[in-house]
Amino acid sequence: MRQHREALKRLSCALAAADLGHIECDVSLAECSWYEIGGLADIMVHPHSAQALQRTLAIIKDHGVPMFVMGDGSNVIFDDAGFRGVVVRLGQPISAMAIDGTRVKAEAGLWVPRFALELARRGLSGVEHIAGIPGTLGGLIVMNGGSQRKGIGTHVTSVTCLDNAGEIQHFNQQDCAFGYRRSALQKSDCVVLSAEFELDLAPPSQIRREMIDILATRRKKFPKHYPNCGSVFLSDPMMYDVIGPPGKAVEEVGLRGLSSGAAQISSIHGNFIVNRGGASARDVLWLIYKMRQTVGEKTGYWMDCEVRFVSQQGAVMPAHQAADVLFGAHLSHALPAELQALL
Ligand SMILES: Cc1cc2nc3c(=O)[nH]c(=O)nc-3n(C[C@H](O)[C@H](O)[C@H](O)COP(=O)(O)OP(=O)(O)OC[C@H]3O[C@@H](n4cnc5c(N)ncnc54)[C@H](O)[C@@H]3O)c2cc1C
Repeated sequence: MRQHREALKRLSCALAAADLGHIECDVSLAECSWYEIGGLADIMVHPHSAQALQRTLAIIKDHGVPMFVMGDGSNVIFDDAGFRGVVVRLGQPISAMAIDGTRVKAEAGLWVPRFALELARRGLSGVEHIAGIPGTLGGLIVMNGGSQRKGIGTHVTSVTCLDNAGEIQHFNQQDCAFGYRRSALQKSDCVVLSAEFELDLAPPSQIRREMIDILATRRKKFPKHYPNCGSVFLSDPMMYDVIGPPGKAVEEVGLRGLSSGAAQISSIHGNFIVNRGGASARDVLWLIYKMRQTVGEKTGYWMDCEVRFVSQQGAVMPAHQAADVLFGAHLSHALPAELQALL
């Protein structure tokens, strides 16, 4: 513990001396995540440019302190115990966008609804389905996010990343291995810096109309009064054909409205968990465990989470894996010991 404190002190001095962006200590992760859940992070850095990000990663690596990169925190559950390391947060300072005909290059910190609006304004079509998704472009690409069962990855031609030493790496679309809400970037030790897209031309008014329709549907379907992280579980195509989406499955097994502490399965949408005020990560993970177990036992489909859990040590995993470790270690499909040790 003392060694860790000393390493943190040396690291924050080195980052401050290099003047790479705003640095904060003992930051509430609850205030940085859409779930409003999580303890304190030892350090948080907000790099002020792409070059500063590159240098920040190299300095962190040199100091051997655990690192977690985040955008807007709209798809993460932070540990109640916080994070013993440094969070690198990307946002507005790294959000440039350049358009050349139907080719677009944009940086990871760009706010997704702003990206969508700008594409509509310029008559660039293909990713209307991202309208209204909160978060940064980097997070969206890593998660291959989207709506209407589409993913942003379809229109990505290449992604530029930084490895954990700050070295540049290029991924083409194949390397990214985009799948439904999945990508190879989730497993690699890379920070997404920017991406290039190939889009189609369409009249701006048509694109805008489509986006407005999508936003109206979202407003009707999704809970909006309490903090949440969007869909908790991924929609499995096989389960979708037989039973329907995860929300329908959760509702059919009678779990809609179930609470654990201040966390509750939304009464509006069965695939959302809301924080009714002061919920803990443990409360949310228990509901996730219960939803997965009940649907699995009754239907034979074991739903996987879209939302990621970030442990105190910086292990990042789909939240159902953390829930299985906490509440279902006795299960035959529980996780291997290596993963349990990370929690
Ligand atoms: C109300 C609500 C509605 C939502 N609706 C949708 C929806 O319709 N469709 C959908 O797909 N998602 C949806 N989401 C989930 C979420 O908005 C997306 O996944 C979003 O793109 C995540 O971006 P972020 O910047 O918030 O990422 P974060 O939550 O900060 O991070 C998510 C993961 O991505 C990693 N990450 C973030 N940035 C980078 C980077 N630059 N390089 C490497 N790794 C990175 C993090 O380490 C973490 O593992 C919704 C969330 C909310 C709260």
